Amino acid sequence: MLCRACDLAVSKRALPSGVRALCPRCHTALYDAPYCSINGMLALCISALLFYLPAMLLPVLEMHFLGSVRTTTAYQGALAVIDQGYWIVGIAVLVAAVIAPGVLNLSIFVQVLIIKTGLVQHHFWRGVLTWLLKKQGLLSQMTMLEIYVISFLVSAFQLSDFSDVYFGMGTFCFTMLFLVTLFLQREYNLEHMWSFLDES
Ligand SMILES: [Zn+2]
Repeated sequence: MLCRACDLAVSKRALPSGVRALCPRCHTALYDAPYCSINGMLALCISALLFYLPAMLLPVLEMHFLGSVRTTTAYQGALAVIDQGYWIVGIAVLVAAVIAPGVLNLSIFVQVLIIKTGLVQHHFWRGVLTWLLKKQGLLSQMTMLEIYVISFLVSAFQLSDFSDVYFGMGTFCFTMLFLVTLFLQREYNLEHMWSFLDES
């Protein structure tokens, strides 16, 4: 990149967090992109993928009401909304809280693996990485795990007057999936990921 003050050509590299790159000649601030560590992202991706299945398949909410016990999973919750006739809302919930987070984590996992194993040198894997990077913006916009995390809290407050609400292992896994995905998206820097393609 060129310094915007003195036009000195400077090569760009990843920065540790809280550090800003300055022009060596005129000391103008050049960029302050967050650090995008490949190993850190790989660890977050593996954690997210481990939490994904239990978060979707184990009950996130358990209600005890007059002796009857009802449990629901994140996936069933979305289908229940569709069954009640609100199919647009149901599909939105299914995409935002079930499908998109899984695809997003899988996509970043594949991107990190391609870069880490040096497959980025191969023509085919370069194509795969380019395609995934182009879809990244859309995928991260569609991922909205927070809608479920908020709904757990709302249901805990609202339903606790009428019935006993319990949170189980599914709630824990779902909240952890939410947190890990949040940190992964914070660590992920699209511009920096594109630079791996230029370097190889
Ligand atoms: Zn300069």
